[in-house]
Amino acid sequence: MDMEETLPAKGDRVIIAVDGPAGAGKGAVCRAVAERFGLAYLETGAIYRAVGLLALRQGVSDEAGLAELARTMPFSFRSVGPGRFGAYLGEEEVTAQLREEAVGEAASKAAALPEVRRALLHFQRGYGGPPGVILDGRDVGTVVWPEADLKIFLTASLEERAKRRALELREKGETASLEEIRQRMAERDARDSSRTHAPLLPATDAVTLDTTPLTLDESIARVTLLVASVLHP
Ligand code: C5P
Repeated sequence: MDMEETLPAKGDRVIIAVDGPAGAGKGAVCRAVAERFGLAYLETGAIYRAVGLLALRQGVSDEAGLAELARTMPFSFRSVGPGRFGAYLGEEEVTAQLREEAVGEAASKAAALPEVRRALLHFQRGYGGPPGVILDGRDVGTVVWPEADLKIFLTASLEERAKRRALELREKGETASLEEIRQRMAERDARDSSRTHAPLLPATDAVTLDTTPLTLDESIARVTLLVASVLHP
Protein backbone atom coordinates (compact mmCIF):
# COMPACT_ATOMS: atom_id res chain seq x y z
CA MET A 1 0.00 0.00 0.00
CA ASP A 2 1.18 3.52 -0.75
CA MET A 3 2.21 5.07 2.59
CA GLU A 4 1.14 8.53 1.48
CA GLU A 5 -2.48 7.34 1.30
CA THR A 6 -2.52 6.31 4.94
CA LEU A 7 -1.21 9.60 6.36
CA PRO A 8 -3.53 11.21 8.93
CA ALA A 9 -5.72 13.94 7.44
CA LYS A 10 -5.96 17.46 8.79
CA GLY A 11 -9.62 17.08 9.70
CA ASP A 12 -10.97 19.96 11.77
CA ARG A 13 -7.63 20.85 13.31
CA VAL A 14 -5.95 24.23 12.84
CA ILE A 15 -2.33 23.56 11.88
CA ILE A 16 0.42 26.09 12.55
CA ALA A 17 3.84 25.32 11.04
CA VAL A 18 6.91 27.09 12.43
CA ASP A 19 10.21 26.35 10.72
CA GLY A 20 13.68 27.81 11.04
CA PRO A 21 17.30 27.17 11.96
CA ALA A 22 18.60 26.03 15.35
CA GLY A 23 18.57 28.73 18.01
CA ALA A 24 16.01 31.03 16.35
CA GLY A 25 13.74 30.67 19.39
CA LYS A 26 11.18 28.29 17.86
CA GLY A 27 10.79 26.15 20.99
CA ALA A 28 10.30 28.94 23.53
CA VAL A 29 8.00 30.91 21.22
CA CYS A 30 5.87 27.93 20.18
CA ARG A 31 5.51 26.62 23.72
CA ALA A 32 4.23 29.99 24.97
CA VAL A 33 1.86 30.51 22.04
CA ALA A 34 0.49 26.96 22.20
CA GLU A 35 -0.24 27.34 25.91
CA ARG A 36 -1.91 30.69 25.38
CA PHE A 37 -4.34 29.30 22.77
CA GLY A 38 -4.77 25.79 24.20
CA LEU A 39 -3.12 24.15 21.20
CA ALA A 40 -0.99 21.00 21.24
CA TYR A 41 2.71 21.57 20.59
CA LEU A 42 5.10 19.22 18.85
CA GLU A 43 8.81 19.95 18.76
CA THR A 44 9.62 17.76 15.74
CA GLY A 45 13.36 18.09 16.41
CA ALA A 46 12.86 15.90 19.49
CA ILE A 47 11.84 12.90 17.41
CA TYR A 48 14.87 13.30 15.14
CA ARG A 49 16.96 13.59 18.29
CA ALA A 50 15.40 10.39 19.66
CA VAL A 51 16.52 8.60 16.50
CA GLY A 52 19.98 10.16 16.98
CA LEU A 53 20.15 8.96 20.59
CA LEU A 54 19.17 5.41 19.68
CA ALA A 55 21.61 5.43 16.75
CA LEU A 56 24.47 6.36 19.11
CA ARG A 57 23.43 3.82 21.74
CA GLN A 58 23.05 0.98 19.28
CA GLY A 59 25.84 1.94 16.88
CA VAL A 60 23.49 2.08 13.90
CA SER A 61 24.47 4.32 10.99
CA ASP A 62 23.07 2.80 7.78
CA GLU A 63 19.91 4.24 6.24
CA ALA A 64 17.78 1.07 6.47
CA GLY A 65 18.79 0.51 10.10
CA LEU A 66 18.09 4.12 11.08
CA ALA A 67 14.71 4.06 9.30
CA GLU A 68 13.85 0.89 11.21
CA LEU A 69 14.74 2.64 14.49
CA ALA A 70 12.56 5.59 13.48
CA ARG A 71 9.63 3.31 12.61
CA THR A 72 9.76 1.19 15.75
CA MET A 73 11.04 3.44 18.55
CA PRO A 74 8.58 3.69 21.46
CA PHE A 75 8.72 7.48 21.53
CA SER A 76 6.14 9.61 23.34
CA PHE A 77 5.67 12.90 25.15
CA ARG A 78 4.21 12.68 28.63
CA SER A 79 3.01 15.31 31.02
CA VAL A 80 5.60 15.71 33.80
CA GLY A 81 4.04 18.69 35.57
CA PRO A 82 1.75 21.63 34.94
CA GLY A 83 2.39 22.67 31.32
CA ARG A 84 5.57 20.60 31.16
CA PHE A 85 6.16 17.61 28.90
CA GLY A 86 8.97 15.09 28.95
CA ALA A 87 10.27 13.01 26.05
CA TYR A 88 10.17 9.26 26.67
CA LEU A 89 11.54 6.17 25.00
CA GLY A 90 9.39 3.46 26.48
CA GLU A 91 9.44 4.07 30.25
CA GLU A 92 12.74 5.98 30.20
CA GLU A 93 12.66 9.77 30.30
CA VAL A 94 15.25 11.08 27.83
CA THR A 95 14.42 14.83 27.79
CA ALA A 96 17.87 15.96 29.03
CA GLN A 97 19.80 13.47 26.92
CA LEU A 98 18.06 14.64 23.77
CA ARG A 99 19.52 18.13 24.29
CA GLU A 100 23.13 16.88 24.23
CA GLU A 101 25.29 18.22 21.42
CA ALA A 102 26.35 14.76 20.21
CA VAL A 103 22.71 13.73 19.97
CA GLY A 104 21.91 16.86 17.90
CA GLU A 105 24.73 15.96 15.55
CA ALA A 106 23.54 12.38 15.18
CA ALA A 107 19.99 13.66 14.62
CA SER A 108 21.09 16.03 11.89
CA LYS A 109 22.94 13.20 10.11
CA ALA A 110 19.99 10.80 10.36
CA ALA A 111 17.62 13.59 9.28
CA ALA A 112 19.38 13.89 5.91
CA LEU A 113 18.20 10.37 4.99
CA PRO A 114 14.86 10.23 3.11
CA GLU A 115 13.87 6.81 4.56
CA VAL A 116 14.20 8.21 8.08
CA ARG A 117 12.14 11.30 7.23
CA ARG A 118 9.41 9.18 5.66
CA ALA A 119 9.29 6.94 8.73
CA LEU A 120 8.63 9.95 10.98
CA LEU A 121 5.94 11.55 8.83
CA HIS A 122 3.02 9.56 10.21
CA PHE A 123 3.81 10.47 13.83
CA GLN A 124 4.07 14.17 12.96
CA ARG A 125 0.81 14.26 10.98
CA GLY A 126 -1.05 12.31 13.65
CA TYR A 127 0.04 14.48 16.56
CA GLY A 128 -2.51 16.63 18.41
CA GLY A 129 -6.29 16.89 18.25
CA PRO A 130 -8.78 19.75 17.89
CA PRO A 131 -8.67 22.70 18.16
CA GLY A 132 -5.24 22.38 16.65
CA VAL A 133 -1.51 21.97 16.90
CA ILE A 134 1.68 23.99 16.51
CA LEU A 135 4.63 22.08 15.11
CA ASP A 136 8.14 23.45 14.91
CA GLY A 137 10.97 22.06 12.82
CA ARG A 138 12.70 22.46 9.49
CA ASP A 139 10.20 21.18 6.91
CA VAL A 140 6.81 21.36 8.61
CA GLY A 141 5.43 23.96 6.17
CA THR A 142 7.04 22.43 3.10
CA VAL A 143 6.70 18.66 3.59
CA VAL A 144 4.83 17.59 6.74
CA TRP A 145 1.89 20.00 6.50
CA PRO A 146 1.94 21.80 3.13
CA GLU A 147 -1.75 22.55 3.77
CA ALA A 148 -1.07 24.25 7.15
CA ASP A 149 -3.34 27.21 8.02
CA LEU A 150 -0.35 29.37 8.92
CA LYS A 151 3.33 28.98 8.11
CA ILE A 152 5.97 30.99 9.90
CA PHE A 153 9.70 30.98 9.16
CA LEU A 154 11.42 32.06 12.35
CA THR A 155 15.02 33.04 11.88
CA ALA A 156 17.85 35.16 13.34
CA SER A 157 21.45 35.91 12.43
CA LEU A 158 24.04 33.23 13.15
CA GLU A 159 25.79 35.59 15.56
CA GLU A 160 22.61 36.18 17.58
CA ARG A 161 21.59 32.50 17.59
CA ALA A 162 25.07 31.49 18.81
CA LYS A 163 24.87 34.10 21.59
CA ARG A 164 21.48 32.79 22.72
CA ARG A 165 22.74 29.21 22.77
CA ALA A 166 25.85 30.25 24.75
CA LEU A 167 23.64 31.96 27.34
CA GLU A 168 21.38 28.91 27.55
CA LEU A 169 24.40 26.65 28.15
CA ARG A 170 25.82 29.02 30.76
CA GLU A 171 22.50 28.97 32.63
CA LYS A 172 22.70 25.19 32.71
CA GLY A 173 26.22 25.47 34.13
CA GLU A 174 27.92 24.21 30.96
CA THR A 175 30.68 26.07 29.23
CA ALA A 176 31.47 26.31 25.55
CA SER A 177 33.21 29.14 23.71
CA LEU A 178 31.06 31.37 21.55
CA GLU A 179 33.35 30.66 18.62
CA GLU A 180 32.90 26.92 19.05
CA ILE A 181 29.12 27.24 19.25
CA ARG A 182 29.01 29.52 16.22
CA GLN A 183 31.06 27.07 14.20
CA ARG A 184 28.96 24.05 15.14
CA MET A 185 25.78 25.97 14.35
CA ALA A 186 27.10 27.06 10.96
CA GLU A 187 27.95 23.45 10.15
CA ARG A 188 24.51 22.23 11.23
CA ASP A 189 22.80 25.03 9.24
CA ALA A 190 24.82 24.08 6.17
CA ARG A 191 23.92 20.39 6.49
CA ASP A 192 20.22 21.10 7.12
CA SER A 193 20.01 23.62 4.25
CA SER A 194 21.97 21.76 1.60
CA ARG A 195 20.47 18.27 1.94
CA THR A 196 18.52 17.08 -1.08
CA HIS A 197 15.53 15.88 0.91
CA ALA A 198 13.39 18.40 2.77
CA PRO A 199 16.09 21.06 3.17
CA LEU A 200 15.60 23.93 5.60
CA LEU A 201 13.72 26.44 3.45
CA PRO A 202 10.83 28.84 3.98
CA ALA A 203 7.65 27.66 2.26
CA THR A 204 6.69 30.06 -0.54
CA ASP A 205 3.62 31.08 1.47
CA ALA A 206 5.42 31.43 4.83
CA VAL A 207 5.58 34.65 6.84
CA THR A 208 9.25 35.25 7.67
CA LEU A 209 10.00 36.68 11.11
CA ASP A 210 13.59 37.72 11.79
CA THR A 211 13.99 37.70 15.57
CA THR A 212 17.56 39.12 15.59
CA PRO A 213 16.51 42.49 17.06
CA LEU A 214 13.63 41.09 19.16
CA THR A 215 13.48 39.92 22.76
CA LEU A 216 11.80 36.60 23.45
CA ASP A 217 8.66 38.40 24.67
CA GLU A 218 8.54 40.49 21.51
CA SER A 219 8.90 37.37 19.35
CA ILE A 220 6.08 35.70 21.29
CA ALA A 221 3.89 38.81 20.83
CA ARG A 222 4.43 38.83 17.04
CA VAL A 223 3.65 35.14 16.67
CA THR A 224 0.63 35.48 18.98
CA LEU A 225 -0.84 38.10 16.62
CA LEU A 226 -0.30 35.88 13.58
CA VAL A 227 -1.86 32.86 15.26
CA ALA A 228 -4.80 34.91 16.55
CA SER A 229 -5.49 36.03 12.98
CA VAL A 230 -6.05 32.44 11.81
CA LEU A 231 -7.85 31.22 14.95
CA HIS A 232 -10.22 34.20 15.13
CA PRO A 233 -10.30 35.67 11.62
O1 C5P B 1 15.48 21.45 16.14
P1 C5P B 1 16.60 20.60 16.65
O2 C5P B 1 17.92 21.29 16.71
O3 C5P B 1 16.25 19.93 17.93
O4 C5P B 1 16.74 19.41 15.59
C1 C5P B 1 17.84 18.53 15.57
C2 C5P B 1 18.13 18.15 14.12
O5 C5P B 1 17.03 17.37 13.60
C3 C5P B 1 18.26 19.34 13.17
O6 C5P B 1 19.58 19.81 13.05
C4 C5P B 1 17.77 18.80 11.85
O7 C5P B 1 18.80 18.19 11.13
C5 C5P B 1 16.79 17.70 12.24
N1 C5P B 1 15.41 18.09 12.05
C6 C5P B 1 14.88 17.98 10.78
N2 C5P B 1 13.57 18.26 10.54
C7 C5P B 1 12.78 18.69 11.53
C8 C5P B 1 13.31 18.86 12.84
C9 C5P B 1 14.63 18.56 13.06
O8 C5P B 1 15.58 17.62 9.85
N3 C5P B 1 11.50 18.93 11.27
